[in-house]
Amino acid sequence: MEIKIAGTEFSLERKSFEIYVQGCYRHCPGCHNPETQSFGSGTAVEIDKFIREQADKVELFDDLVDNIYVTGGDLLCYVDDIAEEFSAHVLCTWYNKYKWLFTGCEEEDIPSWVWDYYDVVKCGQYREDLRQPDGTFPASSNQKLLFNSKWMDNPTLFGVTPSSLEEMYNYTEFKGEKKWK
Ligand code: SF4
Repeated sequence: MEIKIAGTEFSLERKSFEIYVQGCYRHCPGCHNPETQSFGSGTAVEIDKFIREQADKVELFDDLVDNIYVTGGDLLCYVDDIAEEFSAHVLCTWYNKYKWLFTGCEEEDIPSWVWDYYDVVKCGQYREDLRQPDGTFPASSNQKLLFNSKWMDNPTLFGVTPSSLEEMYNYTEFKGEKKWK
């Protein structure tokens, strides 16, 4: 199955490897990544091959990467089959890292399968009228940060432990609504 990718990058500051999915139909006024909106741009990749290649890259800097970001663009603007296959590969490949999904989808519209794959979801459209000062997380105050409480009941299933996720919940600086889901 194919998906379109805008690019990838490492962030030392966030200790993250970030995957930018190409394509988003939400068209938030003031979008910070407008070049990732078009489904006609980016590079079409086979999902399994793409994630394998990224795994090799991340392995080289394994100690420096705690977080995997799936951002864009918006993965949830793809049909569920594609978005879920992508997410399953992310989970299987980086089960011992925190997997973050960034989406413009509102909390109540997030498909339930998302909670099978991600530890943290930042959700909600960017709203220019609710914009926060530059550098504030999130960029607009309506956006929420949801932590996956499912992992708390299944601590042995995945590499992310309840206590480490709880620690992250307590220390993540987020100037918006933050809660367990
Ligand atoms: S959801 Fe994100 S990528 Fe999509 S238009 Fe809004 S700000 Fe841009």
